[in-house]
Amino acid sequence: MAIYFDSIVFGPVRSRRLGSSLGVNLLPLKGKVCSFDCIYCECGWNSEGRQDTRIPSLEQVQEALERGLRECHRNNAPIDSITFSGNGEPTLHPDFPEIIDYTVALRDELFPEAVISVLSNATMLGRPGVKEALRKVENPILKLDGVDMDYVKVLDRPQNPDYNIEEVISHLKWFEGDFILQTMFLRGVVDGVEIDSMRSDLLEGWQKMALELHPREVMLYTLDRKPPLSTLEKVSVEEMERAAEPLKKAGIKIRISG
Ligand code: SF4
Repeated sequence: MAIYFDSIVFGPVRSRRLGSSLGVNLLPLKGKVCSFDCIYCECGWNSEGRQDTRIPSLEQVQEALERGLRECHRNNAPIDSITFSGNGEPTLHPDFPEIIDYTVALRDELFPEAVISVLSNATMLGRPGVKEALRKVENPILKLDGVDMDYVKVLDRPQNPDYNIEEVISHLKWFEGDFILQTMFLRGVVDGVEIDSMRSDLLEGWQKMALELHPREVMLYTLDRKPPLSTLEKVSVEEMERAAEPLKKAGIKIRISG
């Protein structure tokens, strides 16, 4: 059973990675819209979330952001990060660049010390204005789970048949390392087929890509809450540490959530 964020602005909630985080959901309030359909998604399958496909308007988002941030300011509630995540992929919102500009202005006025974080699956980096908007925030956290198309098709289930990892990598190069790479590691059985992020060829391909992109930070994580597929398992922190070893040696900051 999928659980959704039922408001545009939620929290602040305590995040292990981001501290006191005020969440922003640019997707429907009772459903999910995403360009991936990851087997580990905490919002459940896309097919379960189609009862509501209404994306909030630019004005509704601006109003919710203003209200949420002013209320936190009035109550002296500390905010370390204004975090775009929610019920799907935030950069699918047609007014994403305008929303980021608005958020930056409000943050500068009310919480100048807070950072803005966007958790994105990097599928929309080719859309006009998206990369530029992500460059304006302190934490563009961009997901790439692997470089092997067969593996990514099983794990992330891209909804666009033309999804192309090479294209994503070339967009990521545009950031010149000024982004955070996020990768999920897990293992399990999907439709009777075993998958394992730690398989040596998959891991080597991922390490090569990460070394080439040289992001300022790499966030590795594994399953936390119950995924939509019960046949999946966590990998251990030690395995993730070993996977990140060459990156660490190359001077990339590594953050692991087990
Ligand atoms: S990209 Fe994120 S929101 Fe979309 S399906 Fe994957 S985990 Fe869920």
